Amino acid sequence: MEIIKGKKQPHVLAVPFPAQGHVKPLMKLSRQIAKRGIKVTFVNIQCIHEKIVANNKNMSGDNINHNEEDNIILASIPDGRSPEDDPNDTFKLLESLRHSTPGFVTELIEKINISNPDQKISCLVADITMAWIFETAEKMGAVPVAFSPPSAAAFALVLHTPKLLQQGFLDANGSVTKSETISLSENVPTWQKNELTWSFSGDLQTQKIFFDCSKRISETVNQATWLLSNTCYEIEPSACDLSPNLLSIGPLLESPNPKSPPISCNFYSEDESCLAWLDSKPPGSVVYVSFGSLAVFSQQQLDELAFGLENSGRAFLWVVRSDLANGSRAVYPDGFLDRVGEVGKVVEWAPQERVLSHTSTACFVSHCGWNSTMEGAGNGVPFLCWPYFSDQYHNQSYICDEWEIGLRIEPGENGIRTRDEIRGKIDKMFCDDRLKKNAVKMKEVCAESVGEGGSSYKNLEMFINHLVE
Ligand code: UDP
Repeated sequence: MEIIKGKKQPHVLAVPFPAQGHVKPLMKLSRQIAKRGIKVTFVNIQCIHEKIVANNKNMSGDNINHNEEDNIILASIPDGRSPEDDPNDTFKLLESLRHSTPGFVTELIEKINISNPDQKISCLVADITMAWIFETAEKMGAVPVAFSPPSAAAFALVLHTPKLLQQGFLDANGSVTKSETISLSENVPTWQKNELTWSFSGDLQTQKIFFDCSKRISETVNQATWLLSNTCYEIEPSACDLSPNLLSIGPLLESPNPKSPPISCNFYSEDESCLAWLDSKPPGSVVYVSFGSLAVFSQQQLDELAFGLENSGRAFLWVVRSDLANGSRAVYPDGFLDRVGEVGKVVEWAPQERVLSHTSTACFVSHCGWNSTMEGAGNGVPFLCWPYFSDQYHNQSYICDEWEIGLRIEPGENGIRTRDEIRGKIDKMFCDDRLKKNAVKMKEVCAESVGEGGSSYKNLEMFINHLVE
């Protein structure tokens, strides 16, 4: 990759929202920027910074860590909460971030600018959810850049909230009032009334907090000079067209570099033993099962999943986070691990992109978070969809109806996906060549877009070239 040499020495400050599915893609974007010889300071709130340092074997626990290869420096700021605040209260965190980050980011920029007079912060790339710091960027003389981790469709929905409210399609809580669905364009899948990004059926208070957050994003995101999105035009052209300022630069995928393992950004400890286990399996034989960082299940649902996998008779690699069972450690059905033996492998956290790019991986039982969606699509892996909340339902529509690279695992009337449904859909996946063929085509489309001369490649080049002007 050519290193850009300009008159100025640009320096990017990257500020993710403190959630796994937000930190990871912004780090991938930061790596793309750093690869062009531009310095990036990547700043997390303290507790996230500590998790990342703890899960990067080559790092010390210092406040600032250098990864010379990548040109990236990790830094941290306080999260603004007081010791008596509940550390698991996400809404409290959101509120305190809103009030405290502008001050902490200003202090950090001042500190960096004093110690690096030739390389002052020239650009601030922040997650759209942290949109309130674009003002800070301007005050500090840095170009404000918004980074949108979800699909262009999810972003368009957020951007359209004021209009949908004004036209009476949504009420003040974000509930759909006039119809069963919301549609923004003929060629973008519709949203079912309880499957909006902020929908929380049965919990109106939480829904309103998420909805207010979406409204705030729609009001503030235009303060940014650039708006970058982890998608590519070719896979959702109509949704991209709904936000004319959106620059698609994805899918952001990991490029393996054995010489210099990148900063991992994992909140959990990655278990690489599954890669050797995958090596021992025939090509296209393994069902990979992972629900991202937030989804949780009842014990009944976990039992059904365990039996569904066992009864399928297929090899499976299942990510069972330590908090997957409604915040606690999962309990397996009696004798499950002994019975599946070498046929099944359970890990707490997988090197997901290396699993998805492994030849033994056949399909991906996924909650359809947008990162997982992009990683599966970018690696040509078909999906068995099991959305949990938020934009995951809409991502499922893309996967199953638009791109035709997946099947739904349907819940029963009580909301539980039964062992028979799970086993049945796994069987169907292995019998349906069409899904795999479409998934391989999808991989080619993504590769073309991020490859030299492709639409995402050109958009990213345009953005990076402006950084050095
Ligand atoms: N991930 C991972 N190992 C795992 C499970 C997930 O590295 O075992 C990563 C995955 O590659 C993705 C992120 O965690 O980049 C999850 O983001 P996503 O948007 O899919 O879901 P969320 O966690 O936000 O629900």
